Amino acid sequence: MVEVQTQVSLAEHTTLHIGGSAAEFVSVDTEGDLISALNCSIPILILGAGSNLLIADTGFAGRVIHIQTSGINLIDNQLNVAAGENWDEFVLWAVDNGFGFFAPLTGIPGTVGATPIQNVGAYGTEVSELIESVTVFDRLTKEKLILNNNQCRFGYRNSLFKQEPERFVVLQVQFKPVKVEQIEVKYEELAKKIGVNVSDLVDARRVLAAVREIRASKGMLLDPTDSDTYSVGSFFLNPRVSEDIKTELPSEVPAWQQQDGSWKISAAWLIANSGFVPGYRVGDASISSKHMLALCNRGKATAKEIMQLAQEVRSAVKSRFDIELEFEPTIL
Ligand SMILES: Cc1cc2nc3c(=O)[nH]c(=O)nc-3n(C[C@H](O)[C@H](O)[C@H](O)COP(=O)(O)OP(=O)(O)OC[C@H]3O[C@@H](n4cnc5c(N)ncnc54)[C@H](O)[C@@H]3O)c2cc1C
Repeated sequence: MVEVQTQVSLAEHTTLHIGGSAAEFVSVDTEGDLISALNCSIPILILGAGSNLLIADTGFAGRVIHIQTSGINLIDNQLNVAAGENWDEFVLWAVDNGFGFFAPLTGIPGTVGATPIQNVGAYGTEVSELIESVTVFDRLTKEKLILNNNQCRFGYRNSLFKQEPERFVVLQVQFKPVKVEQIEVKYEELAKKIGVNVSDLVDARRVLAAVREIRASKGMLLDPTDSDTYSVGSFFLNPRVSEDIKTELPSEVPAWQQQDGSWKISAAWLIANSGFVPGYRVGDASISSKHMLALCNRGKATAKEIMQLAQEVRSAVKSRFDIELEFEPTIL
């Protein structure tokens, strides 16, 4: 039997510390309770740790289901993790237990179940590279399904789950249980930090420590004493453009060619070159002082202020470079 609370403030459930109240709020720590909580006639929001959510100041006029299921199981060569597990703690456990490929994804806030939603990634690794399959509840057919990696349709900060947000609830994630002590360093900045070259093999624990140091220096590691971390991480995606558009941009723009020939352009560079400086503010909403892609709450910022700032950045980039930036978090 699930307990339904009413008028629960959502600000304390998000890393931005922003958001009005939920009409209904249900915390679930078993899959059975989660599935029965889904059975209601008002809109539903699935909540993990609220680290990729901008919730309106007016709140959410429906039922918020806060997933708190737990369990990390290594059985029959399967590494199966419950959706409600804390991602960063799981990564520390995984690397300590020899699953070295997880190391570059250390320090990303949130739950395990949210990682496939936007295919989280950092420092040259995306979670989709580590996922074998995802166990979901399909709200349309009311069935529990296991989707293999291909069926999840992973892309850059994208997946089937992001494309059909009303449909799938992630219950568990099955990761590839590959044990390696050393991993390839795929990211220039990380290689520099460790003092090696890109493509070198390095002990996964060393990679993990270096990633955490870099993340802390950019306000990308949660720290209650640092308002630069009161964010959703990157608010903007790096845009993808064609070869033709890329050639019209200044030659110094950081850009990475993709397998299909298109180019991924640094959104941080576009913003910095559209007239914004670190710490730029709209009321209590500001660009991070350490990272141009993060929008932060300096105290009493509202969702409205964050959106005003986000739109201001977007229109400046559009008018300077004719590129439309896309927002990364779920905006309600
Ligand atoms: C400081 C900081 C640094 C960050 N760095 C990175 C980074 O390096 N790389 C990166 O990719 N992201 C990063 N993020 C974004 C964020 O941490 C990830 O997107 C994370 O996976 C969100 O997890 P969550 O549990 O907080 O999800 P929430 O914010 O609670 O939810 C996000 C979305 O997923 C949906 N959702 C959550 N759980 C489930 C589920 N079980 N089933 C179905 N839908 C679900 C929600 O409905 C919502 O639409 C960062 C955020 C912060 C604050």
